[in-house]
Formats: sequence, structure tokens, C-alpha cells
Amino acid sequence: MEKLLNVKPCPFCGYANPFLVKEKDYDANIHDNEEKVRKAEVWFYVVCLKCKVKTQEESSRERAIARWEQRKEKQNDVHDVAEFYKD
Ligand SMILES: [Zn+2]
Repeated sequence: MEKLLNVKPCPFCGYANPFLVKEKDYDANIHDNEEKVRKAEVWFYVVCLKCKVKTQEESSRERAIARWEQRKEKQNDVHDVAEFYKD
């Protein structure tokens, strides 16, 4: 995880430093020669560690940060913001 500086605070709890998360999913495929090949898929999202709100997953670091930055300054209900969700 990478701490993000110079981005907007969490719109729900006001916490100042969200984190960028990079995740990988390995898809093991078996080729004709039965050699296993690992294909990595990588995605990114921004998360507030205090209230656990996250952005949608994006294909790049820049897109995940842009997603975090594009919402209104203050939100009361996470369900009002399509780009954000909580587990
Ligand atoms: Zn928060």
C-alpha cells in the first residue's frame, strides 16, 4: 500500500491520507506443452483505512486516484456515491 499525499481527504470521515492499493490476480493457464503460464492481472483502488470506504477498481494508479478525486467534498451516505463502496 502506498500513502497518498496531496489528494482530497475522505469524503465520509475526513481522514486526510487515503492509501493506494495494488492487487494482483494470478490466472494459471495450461498450454499445449503443459507448461504452466502465469498471467498477471493488476488493478488499483484507493481506500480510507479509517472508515474503510473504497473507490471502484481501476486498471491504473492514475485512474484510481482520479476516481478518488472526482467526487464532491462532503458525503453523508456512501450509497449516494456510485464510485465508492464499503465491504
Ligand atoms: Zn474515511
